[in-house]
Amino acid sequence: MELTVRQEQIIDIVKSNGPITGEQIAERLNLTRATLRPDLAILTMAGFLDARPRVGYFYTGKTGSQLLTEKVKKITVQQYQSIPVVVNESSSVYDAIVTMFLEDVGTLFVVDQNSSLMGVLSRKDLLRASIGSQKIETMPVNIIMTRMPNITMCQKDDLIIDVANKLIDKQIDALPVVREFDKGSGLEVIGRLTKTNITKVLVDLANDDLI
Ligand code: ADP
Repeated sequence: MELTVRQEQIIDIVKSNGPITGEQIAERLNLTRATLRPDLAILTMAGFLDARPRVGYFYTGKTGSQLLTEKVKKITVQQYQSIPVVVNESSSVYDAIVTMFLEDVGTLFVVDQNSSLMGVLSRKDLLRASIGSQKIETMPVNIIMTRMPNITMCQKDDLIIDVANKLIDKQIDALPVVREFDKGSGLEVIGRLTKTNITKVLVDLANDDLI
């Protein structure tokens, strides 16, 4: 984050005089305590300063990049996940292609009649099937999908940075966000985490706009 001149001044004062009260910082800057309150709140929330009741403000000693790393490592999947698009395992390859176009996604998740996750279909899976000799109108997706248990997935509370590592490691574009059905019978697809979602994290970080 970009600090204002006044915020930099506050950090300098706390660095050399901490622990120091808000009142004392205000005096040194010839400002009122009330004027300073928003700046102190920002610096504390961002992690530059630490406030202890009845003692005052301390300098945490953390650099901007350390604070950024800490911030990134707290972002979870549910903050950035998209809506999943699913097709039934008995759907034809043709219907899956139409769904992919209509829903404007690059990865489809395949489920059984109980809505339990069975497989994943990528753009290239569908392309490959389309250039084969079989008829795509009658070919079910479950013969061409990547199937359980070989699916890489995540849960809503997982860290985005761990999911980003999985995407790179497995060389895939997206993974399903899942949770176990109450009865423990299979996995429900509750979200989709894609490379685009990860790109959004980067943009939000650059804009200091983290949700
Ligand atoms: P594309 O094949 O269109 O480049 P991907 O790189 O995502 O898209 O997919 C590569 C292969 O990995 C495909 O065969 C696909 O079925 C499979 N795949 C995609 N996502 C996953 C996932 N989350 N878990 C397991 N396999 C996947």
